[in-house]
Order: sequence, then structure tokens, then C-alpha cells
Amino acid sequence: AMSIATAECSKVYPIFIFDYHILSKLKNKEDRRITFILESLQEISEKLKEFGSDLIVLFGNPEELLPKIVNELKIDKVFANRDYEPYAKTRDEKVKKILGESDTPINFFQDSVIYESNEILTNNGDLYKVFTPYKNKWLEKFRMQELSLFEIEMDKFASIPKIYKFNSKLLLEKIGFKLTDNIVKGGTKEAKDKIKNFQDRIHHYKDRRDFPAIDGTSSISPYIRHGNISIRDLVRASEKFGGEGSETWLSELVWRDFYQMILDTNPHVERKSFKPEYDKINWSNDKILFKAWCDGETGFPIVDSAMRCLNQTGLMHNRLRMVTASFLCKLLHIDWRWGEKYFAEKLLDFDLAANNGGWQWSSSSGCDSQPYFRIFNPYSQSEKFDKEGEYIKKWCPELKGFNRKLIHQPEKADMIQQMEAKCTIGKNYPFPIIDYKESRNFTLDVLYSVVKKNK
Ligand code: FAD
Repeated sequence: AMSIATAECSKVYPIFIFDYHILSKLKNKEDRRITFILESLQEISEKLKEFGSDLIVLFGNPEELLPKIVNELKIDKVFANRDYEPYAKTRDEKVKKILGESDTPINFFQDSVIYESNEILTNNGDLYKVFTPYKNKWLEKFRMQELSLFEIEMDKFASIPKIYKFNSKLLLEKIGFKLTDNIVKGGTKEAKDKIKNFQDRIHHYKDRRDFPAIDGTSSISPYIRHGNISIRDLVRASEKFGGEGSETWLSELVWRDFYQMILDTNPHVERKSFKPEYDKINWSNDKILFKAWCDGETGFPIVDSAMRCLNQTGLMHNRLRMVTASFLCKLLHIDWRWGEKYFAEKLLDFDLAANNGGWQWSSSSGCDSQPYFRIFNPYSQSEKFDKEGEYIKKWCPELKGFNRKLIHQPEKADMIQQMEAKCTIGKNYPFPIIDYKESRNFTLDVLYSVVKKNK
């Protein structure tokens, strides 16, 4: 949008709106994403200042704010990028209608995905429901065309009236949030540094991407989520690096497009299971078990480490998102929507399409999800992907005295081993809140009867 606006117009006002409807739903006034976004806006503002302009940042209802500023600054055309989330689609339609009444067109562009929903279809013209054939079609199309490069003509940005000058301190007060101390900083420079750093490791991506104690993935998700770097830049980077690692990484980027397509074309997934029979499940929804999961106090070290990491940083490794999600739905027998909501509040990279897709995949309720009888064993996942217990020791330091075997299942330690490890189970670290085998069998029975009966 920005590129086309600067190409078509002689004077461009860059505007960012903190949408009241989104911010008012964030209960935690120290939400890490606000700090991340402010850092990103600050960077844009500084860049624009070099060209005698600035970023206009507003807070409120976009349906009222946009027509107001269009009128005040005598704007005759608005440019924006398309958003595929149900709320955003409705909002943008309303804004379009309101602006249309005053003869100000708003043009929407494709930006956040490589291919929109209607661009990747089966040979019969239908939407895909299974990832692999979707990916094959995606790659086939991708190999036949060049990705567009979008230049921005910086000298087209207008000088901004004084009242609109960007001031992050005032803005923070206005929106009612506090800054947080994030280990991941916002901004395009940070995003580019991440990709540069990943370039040296991408050839190991396939072999190392599942081990949370290793820096095996790109860690780019908060940046792609907040628009600091474009999906085109990432895809171009994967092509430039080449090799098996790049291919696997590209496949993950295709998953991202896939889930955007699913949400765009099946908006009901925001609240309902993709496969309706899964909404017939009578979940136990035990609040005490849910709290233990949220707090990282389940007595399953790999689950607790992942949840404590999420709570303290806003980050969680992909392997552990699958392990903790499977644990919640299939071992604690809690509705996937509870976990999805918790992740949505905490994740720095929260993205409705990817989060919903990930949860529905884990609970088996989604399209092309894992089969209902596949239940991650938290003990063997821990032994396989954190063999030496390095990750566990970082986030559950009370367990660091246990050897590499016991650290995955410390309740098996006898009293002497617990004394030697300076950790008494039940006192310094909880006993497991459930019996793995019993819970597993219970879930299998429930899922088998509900899913099979209603199919
Ligand atoms: P890399 O492995 O380096 O992958 C590169 C990029 O590909 C990611 O940044 C992301 O944009 C995309 N990607 C990778 N895996 C997936 C996937 N399975 N689905 C969609 N896109 C993917 N990802 C989010 O961006 N936001 C979320 O809110 C989110 N919630 C999730 C919830 C659950 C329960 C699960 C199982 C997965 C979720 N994911 C989510 C997907 C994945 O865990 C993260 O994208 C990944 O951990 C980010 O780390 P990275 O940038 O180092 O990824």
C-alpha cells in the first residue's frame, strides 16, 4: 500500500491507528506487544523525520478516526493492506462504506501473504483442505513467477501538522499501557539482523528445528506478525540461502499462508472446531488443572518449562507449543479454546490464523490435523527433544540437581536422590497433577466414541 501510495500521489500521510476495539480487550496493561509495536513505530517515525515527515499515530475507533483525519488533512485517497481476520474484514468494509459516502476511495492491497485464498485452488477450482497438495500447488505457482519488489519513494511523505507529531510517552498514557522489559525488541532493523543471523544456521534448520535448547529456528515470528519484515523478504531469503534447510523453512512459511487461507475462507474456526463433530466433546474443563498448566506447575517438567518461558518472555518454541497444547486438550481434557485464548494473551507473535490452526491441529479438531489417537507423551518428548535437560534446567531451576534421566520425571527419584538434588517433590516441585496413562486412555475412549459416533 505504501509503495503504491508514494508512486501514485504527490503527497502522502503515513497513518497508524491503535484500534480501541482490539486494545480494550487486552486485560494485562503490561502487554509485551504494546512495547514491541511502540518500538517499531518509533523506528518508522525516526526514519520519516529524516525526510521531513513523521508518522501519525492515533488511538480510537477507526470507523470514526479515519473519516475525521481524511477531512482534516483533505486526503483524497486512502491506501491500506488487506487483513484476513474476521473482525478486521468487517471493520475495513465499514470504513470503506463510510469513506465512500464522502467520495474518498480506499484501496486495499495484498501484502501479508504470498498467495490469497482464491489463488491456490485444486484443478477443480476448490479450496484445499489438506496441507501437502496445497503446498505443492503453492510451490508450482511460485516457481513460475517472480516476487514483486515494492519501493517506497521517501521524498513523497508530507510534513505533518504539529499536533500529530509522534510522541511515544504521551501515546502510552493515552492508550493506558505500561512499557515492558522484552528480550525481543521491535523494529525492522532487528528483523533484518535476525534473518542475517539465521542465514548462517539455515542449513541446519531441518535437523535442529525441534530442539528448544538450541537456537535452531529463525525466531522471526514476532517480526512477520507485526509487519517489521515482509513475507516476500522471508521467501526471497529462503531462495537465496538454498539447500534442504531452506526448503524445510519455506514449507513452514507455506503453512502460514495455508492457515491464513483457512481462517479467511472458514471464519467459523475462530469459535468453532473445523470438524463439527469435535464440538460434541464434553470437555472436563477443570479450572484447577487449567491454572496449574497456565502457571507451569503441572509436575511435568517439559510442560512447566515451556509455560514458564511463555509467561516470562512471551515466546515459546514450536515443538513445545505442540507438546503443551496436546497436554492441555488430550491429557488434562480441557477445551482447546481455553488454551488458544491463553496463548493469544501471552504470545508476542500471536496471530489468530496460526494460533487457531496450531490449536486445532493439536486437538485434532482442525483441517489436516493430527489424528485423534495421536497423543504426545510428555516424557518421551522431553527425553527426545531435551535429552540433557538443558531447557528444563533453565526454566525449572529447582530441578537442576537431577541427572539427565530423572530430570524428565523427577517424581521417580527416591528420597536420597531428591536430597542429593536438593529438591523435594511435593515441596520444591509439584507431583504430576495427572497420571499420564490413565488420562491418555480416558481421552482415547472419549474421542473414539464422540468422534466416531458423530462422523
Ligand atoms: P521458524 O521455524 O523459523 O519458521 C519461520 C516462520 O514460518 C515462522 O516465523 C512463522 O511465521 C511460520 N511458521 C512456522 N511454523 C508455522 C506453523 N505451524 N503455522 C503457521 N506458520 C508457521 N505461529 C505464529 O506466528 N503465531 C502464533 O500465534 C502461533 N501459535 C501457535 C500455536 C500452536 C498451538 C502451535 C502448535 C503453533 C503455533 N504457531 C504460531 C506456529 C509456530 O509455533 C511459530 O510460528 C514458530 O514457533 C515461530 O518461531 P520461528 O519464527 O523461529 O519459526
